[in-house]
Amino acid sequence: MNEVATKAVTCPHCGENASVPLPGGETEVKVRKSIAAFGDHTTVTCSQGHTYWVYFC
Ligand SMILES: [Zn+2]
Repeated sequence: MNEVATKAVTCPHCGENASVPLPGGETEVKVRKSIAAFGDHTTVTCSQGHTYWVYFC
């Protein structure tokens, strides 16, 4: 069994829903339109081609 927790996020540009895998357990996520120099994060590209960053905190 390889169970990966995911969190629903929304594209800040067009509002499209996506889900991102969480690095571990229950974690709050923050969506940003630009990259920051700290923190665990993942990059998401929606179907419209928008790229945004999801931070785990
Ligand atoms: Zn989008």
